[in-house]
Amino acid sequence: MRLSRIAVVGGGPAGLYFGYLWKRRHPDAQVDVFEQNQEGATWGFGVVFSDKALDFLRADDPEAAEAISARMETWRDITLVHRGTRTVLDGVGFSAVGRLEFITRLTARARSVGVTLRFGTVVRSADELAGYDLIVAADGLNSLIRRTHEGDFKTSLSYDDNKFAWYGTTKRFETLTQTFVETELGTFNAHHYRYSGEMSTFIVECDRKTWLRVGFADKTEEESRAICQNVFAETLEGHQLVSNKSVWRSFPWLWNDHWSFRNMVLVGDALHTAHFSIGSGTRLALEDVVALVSALDREQHDLRGALEAYEATRRPIVETLVKAAKTSAAWYERFPEHMKLTPLELGYSYITRSGRIDDAQLRAMCPCFMKHYDALSPGPDKSRQPGALS
Ligand SMILES: Cc1cc2nc3c(=O)[nH]c(=O)nc-3n(C[C@H](O)[C@H](O)[C@H](O)COP(=O)(O)OP(=O)(O)OC[C@H]3O[C@@H](n4cnc5c(N)ncnc54)[C@H](O)[C@@H]3O)c2cc1C
Repeated sequence: MRLSRIAVVGGGPAGLYFGYLWKRRHPDAQVDVFEQNQEGATWGFGVVFSDKALDFLRADDPEAAEAISARMETWRDITLVHRGTRTVLDGVGFSAVGRLEFITRLTARARSVGVTLRFGTVVRSADELAGYDLIVAADGLNSLIRRTHEGDFKTSLSYDDNKFAWYGTTKRFETLTQTFVETELGTFNAHHYRYSGEMSTFIVECDRKTWLRVGFADKTEEESRAICQNVFAETLEGHQLVSNKSVWRSFPWLWNDHWSFRNMVLVGDALHTAHFSIGSGTRLALEDVVALVSALDREQHDLRGALEAYEATRRPIVETLVKAAKTSAAWYERFPEHMKLTPLELGYSYITRSGRIDDAQLRAMCPCFMKHYDALSPGPDKSRQPGALS
């Protein structure tokens, strides 16, 4: 096998990083990245990474990790706001960066090694890519390559009930904050955090009942934005919500039982999704392409073998993360019920929502929070099941 011509569909994190990694290792190969958007245009605002999420990048490409880290906002705690009370979950660190900033850095890396970047180029049919040795489908959730061969990839797709819209705001929040609000319209929560000196991500989520009651289905993007801004007026303290294709969506759970077909291989969101509440989609996408590149390098003479090796090594890791993401999303699906808890109980329910952490671990991880919780909550045998409602 000689992979001298590779087509990468999609210039998001997965496609750009694949292009960069492959061309860096194989300077003679032709690597073409097709991206439908113009350079410098993207959807969404900032994305978060857990403390350790960029470690793999640091190991693989310290220079890129350094360039990205320098643009990141970081903090040590999570804050929950419920019934107007702030509860701090100390010791749960995250970093955040603007999606556009992140993509701009990856674009520069790809360009620096000679990847051909075709911005403003929509791939309309997989047939346009005939003649390439390998097609990397990094074209996100609505992947054309995957949809063209859905049966062969054995794709499944389902949706959560809750609705969310991804906004930005100029209000700066000191930590990743989850704000829960009840108004006459219904129950809402927002996931918000700063991702640059000037901007924060502000994802508004509501249960389906609330969404239907408000009539969001028939509202324009601007009407929805204004309503959400009003619901979170106290949190926003006079700042506006900013829209960027911020339409209401149901979180899609996408999975493929087969990760490759013929000379086509799926990576990132084209392959799987992970709920935004665990902030791992981008990291998963990057790790996918690291695994793909190393499988292709290892099995230099056998494309099929390499694609199977990619799936075999990566699949158990992705499955574990998707399982954790589903558990976290399930907690959010019931957030109006959790709002019946006191702020402290809500904090405990939130931090234990994965069901994988016990009180001893929590005391080590969040000593201040647990000091308050232990002082005010019932004894160890009452109400201390992880994620318990009351
Ligand atoms: C509300 C929300 C919040 C999120 N927050 C986080 C977070 O905090 N942390 C985190 O790590 N992840 C987060 N994610 C997930 C993250 O955004 C994705 O997992 C990540 O972008 C996947 O990267 P990707 O390269 O696989 O796909 P994408 O980023 O979707 O990139 C795909 C690219 O392909 C292009 N494309 C598609 N079709 C074609 C075509 N036919 N021709 C040419 N180009 C095409 C698209 O324009 C796009 O640029 C969030 C997602 C959502 C919805």
